[in-house]
Amino acid sequence: MIPADDPRSIAAAVACLADGGIVALPTETVYGLGADATNGEAVARIFEAKGRPRFNPLIAHVSDLDMARRLAVFDPLALRLADRFWPGPLTLVLPALDGSPVHVLASAGLPTIALRMPRGVMGSIAAALGAPIAAPSANRSGRVSPTTASHVEASLGSAVDLVLDGGPASVGLESTIIKPLDGRLHLLRAGGLDPAEIEAATGLAVIRTPPGPAVEAPGQLVSHYAPSGSVRLEARHVDPGEALVTFAGRRIEGDEAAAEIHDLSPAGNLREAAARLFAVLAELDRPDIARIAVVAIPREGLGEAINDRLTRAAAPRGL
Ligand code: AMP
Ligand code: MG
Repeated sequence: MIPADDPRSIAAAVACLADGGIVALPTETVYGLGADATNGEAVARIFEAKGRPRFNPLIAHVSDLDMARRLAVFDPLALRLADRFWPGPLTLVLPALDGSPVHVLASAGLPTIALRMPRGVMGSIAAALGAPIAAPSANRSGRVSPTTASHVEASLGSAVDLVLDGGPASVGLESTIIKPLDGRLHLLRAGGLDPAEIEAATGLAVIRTPPGPAVEAPGQLVSHYAPSGSVRLEARHVDPGEALVTFAGRRIEGDEAAAEIHDLSPAGNLREAAARLFAVLAELDRPDIARIAVVAIPREGLGEAINDRLTRAAAPRGL
């Protein structure tokens, strides 16, 4: 644990993040567990350290509006909110910009991205890193969000490379998440910014229901991010013409007749497999791939979230 208000701590955090490490950082809401949002394996380490059983989308924390506008499309309403409430406890869910450098594991493959400019050192660290910082709360999955550096250490211990101590979080609640859409404001999560303040600043009502169905809760949508072909798990053989997704160089019966073979991690590294998973599923989402066989993936560590995502991809469609 090192003090957040020392320039040497900032430099250490930047170096660690640039090297693919994960760092617990104070913000005004709660302590975040940050990684370079453009580095898939670093983002995978966040899920691993938290023991998160699924890959839900993370908030990308930016240094300034310029960085934010390289990641997402801001309409005039989104700009007004950013101008009025950033830095602060407001997260905006916006359409992701084509060619956004944020890794697909950080956005869970969604066409939208959640952005926030926090108060405190995280913004200057993102500026020095030259990249947004993906960060959920710095606690083990299912535990309360940490509002002090010692909460972080008690919850994550040695799973995190570095903890910056910035004292108790001033707001102490997660950010309020708003999705501006077609001139309306939808509340996706209540948090540290009172919707009444947003209403006063914009003259618009904050709508308590999300726009449209399950899309806002990607983790709940069973068949979310499935390729169009059918997916068969724990495969021990490949039928002729099936595509095969394998792991750690594993060969199974009939794979010489596979349409194509993708190895999530030839080295058998679950972090690498997590970082490649969405890209492999997207690559296989083609009209000429009707069936996909997937070998059994280990269930320990990140394997749990990988298997969760694969189970969703294999679930009957239209749920
Ligand atoms: P936490 O992991 O506690 O920081 O929470 C992040 C929150 O942001 C979760 O509730 C996510 O579901 C939500 N979130 C992140 N990205 C998106 C997105 N693109 N659309 C909707 N919600 C999002
Ligand atoms: Mg959390």
